[in-house]
Amino acid sequence: MPDSILRIAVPSPRYRIFDYLPPPDCNPAILRPGVRVRVPFGRRQAIGFLVEISDRTDVNPDALRPAQTVLDTEPVLPADVLALLHWAQRYYHHPLGEVFAAALPVLLRHGEPATPPAQAPRWRIAAAGQEALATASNLRRAPAQRLLLDHLADHPGGVLAESLRSVVRDATTTLRALRARGWVESISPAAAATPSSQIPASQSIPALNDAQAAAVAAVTAELGRFRVFLLEGITGSGKTEVYLRLIETVLAHGRQILVLVPEIGLTPQLLARFRERLQKPLATLHSGLGDRERLNAWLQARDGTAGVVVGTRSAVFAPAQNLGLIIVDEEHDPSFKQQDGFRYHARDLAVIRGQQLGIPVVLGSATPALESCHNVQRGRYRLLSLPERVGGGGEPPIEILDMRRQPLIDGLSRPLLERVRLHLARDEQVLLFLNRRGFAPALFCHECGWLSQCRHCDARMTLHLRQHRLICHHCGDNRPIDIACPICGSVDLRALGHGTERLETALRHEFSDVGIARIDRDNTRRRGRLESLLADVRNGERRLLIGTQMLAKGHHFPDVTLVGIVDADQGLYGIDFRAGERMAQLILQVAGRAGRADKPGTVIIQTHHPDHPLLRGLVSRGYPAFAAEALAERQSTLLPPFAYQALLRADAADPEQVTAFLRVARALAEPVVDGVELLGPAPAPMERRAGRYRAQLLLQAAQRHELHRLLDLWLPHLRDRHSDHRVRWSLDVDPMELY
Ligand code: ADP
Ligand code: ZN
Ligand code: ZN
Repeated sequence: MPDSILRIAVPSPRYRIFDYLPPPDCNPAILRPGVRVRVPFGRRQAIGFLVEISDRTDVNPDALRPAQTVLDTEPVLPADVLALLHWAQRYYHHPLGEVFAAALPVLLRHGEPATPPAQAPRWRIAAAGQEALATASNLRRAPAQRLLLDHLADHPGGVLAESLRSVVRDATTTLRALRARGWVESISPAAAATPSSQIPASQSIPALNDAQAAAVAAVTAELGRFRVFLLEGITGSGKTEVYLRLIETVLAHGRQILVLVPEIGLTPQLLARFRERLQKPLATLHSGLGDRERLNAWLQARDGTAGVVVGTRSAVFAPAQNLGLIIVDEEHDPSFKQQDGFRYHARDLAVIRGQQLGIPVVLGSATPALESCHNVQRGRYRLLSLPERVGGGGEPPIEILDMRRQPLIDGLSRPLLERVRLHLARDEQVLLFLNRRGFAPALFCHECGWLSQCRHCDARMTLHLRQHRLICHHCGDNRPIDIACPICGSVDLRALGHGTERLETALRHEFSDVGIARIDRDNTRRRGRLESLLADVRNGERRLLIGTQMLAKGHHFPDVTLVGIVDADQGLYGIDFRAGERMAQLILQVAGRAGRADKPGTVIIQTHHPDHPLLRGLVSRGYPAFAAEALAERQSTLLPPFAYQALLRADAADPEQVTAFLRVARALAEPVVDGVELLGPAPAPMERRAGRYRAQLLLQAAQRHELHRLLDLWLPHLRDRHSDHRVRWSLDVDPMELY
């Protein structure tokens, strides 16, 4: 019997740890948990993480294989991140190997050394380049150079030439041209971490108003202790300024700050503002980075060169070793929840990390999640409010526009169109929000009623006229638009409902002389397109904005004086119990994009349900009142946050197999259900998706610990008993979506 068994978490859906012998020539005594180990895994190789060294194994010792190589001398993740990952593994019941992998940049997952690359030169923008950017006419005819310069301006720490390839196609030639003009310069790797030609720490640091000062003081008083604050304030109320003050204080104490932002909240404007104000280098972690850039930023967080780490969801695992504060901006944002694989909630994990480290956590939002409001109500979080826009003015007035019996022009009522016309005539800007891309959600036959169903999903295919295709937004299947009805042959096929593309067409017709910017996923796919649309809006070339929720975050449109919510009804009667909360948050987020303190803008909501109580509450009394009402409703119906949920989802090609699996799952849970309600098996709201049948079992408990006790006892049985590989299943703890 060997005396040192390496217990290794291998990224794999299998819920177990794998045992190996140490590699030949390796002294296991020097190995520490958290180092990466390359191991044979089935017929391939994998990179796993050493969890512990044991003198026991449940595997037949003769069947043990030796690991191949140990990749690190030091654990690749600091101890506190390891502790967080172990916590997350237990809470979300996800395989440890995959949990570890989620915390690492892709290159480390693939076995690259966890050290900065030796001598690759990095490039940064030179002072002359900054000037060239400022005089835009210089670059009008060199869009590739402009893109590269923009990118470099966003990365004062310098960028490796290879990672520029993801910015423009012919990066080498473009870079050469920029060098020839003296607009870029190379820097030695050592200098890379220090920001270039740093603008002297800003001249204009505003004096805080009373509410901001109180918020800053409250958090500052708790530095060095675990405490969660909910910083509630409408857009423009000065939350970011509060973050900056706190960050400066924590930096002055020599500690690091982690800032989590939603996926589309990480805008160049936000980063520019942070960089301008903060003395220490800042590292960003988000999906837009090349693998090498991401690894470098990650290493800068780990070795402490980066004082501030700003990132999206997975940055909650950033390896900063000396954190003094965690900030989660727009804490209500759904993108903090990972929706597949390891389904963690980054805001919730940020709170756990703060607790493990004994440091404060600040959650900021104009429209906090009901979960967070509830935590304030029961005294767990402390509320800090910023009730006014800086410079005066409250929230923009909201009007409800009753669409019933109104003639509609492509989803737009006459009164709304008239208001749009009025604002445009005054040379102002207008934003119309419709959270549905494409031309129309379906095509139908006026003769027989046929609808453009997807062959693989219980869903309709969306009509995209620009691309001349019907596209399923759920499985991606697409085909040319039918010319005649496949059932009756009629050619009278019509678009059903409205998407942003249709809105754009209608508005082009109505306002032919006004520039329109449609901002949705379809129209911004091309690199640089979003930026150029936004630039056109800023300089007034396009004054009518149409967009989906892409518009709801990060960007600010000071000249917009009218915001129209084209269709609020989706949210009012959605199948998900969170639909109303989402809609309220989206409405206010979109409203917050517009105007300035002296010109706050008006919001008009089109609806067929003008008397809906939640909508009324939101409009007449604002978000806090809405939240209180919505919470009362959740309490009376015993829904989260007054109950705790876990969702067992399953799918298979054959519906029988899914149901059979879920019945077994339910039967296995029944003996241990104390305090937990089992709901289902029931078909998923969209039963068929991408050709697979989906069903689910919902577990709900009034007490969190009862739910988790059940999961702890039940899941091992389920994993043992589940042998039907035709059925895929997953568990979602604290699901944010019930389908
Ligand atoms: P939020 O993050 O809540 O949207 P910001 O912090 O971005 O609000 O503040 C909105 C605007 O007001 C910004 O331009 C900011 O520079 C400015 N601002 C913030 N606080 C103050 C203050 N105390 N005095 C003057 N201007 C301020
Ligand atoms: Zn027909
Ligand atoms: Zn489909």
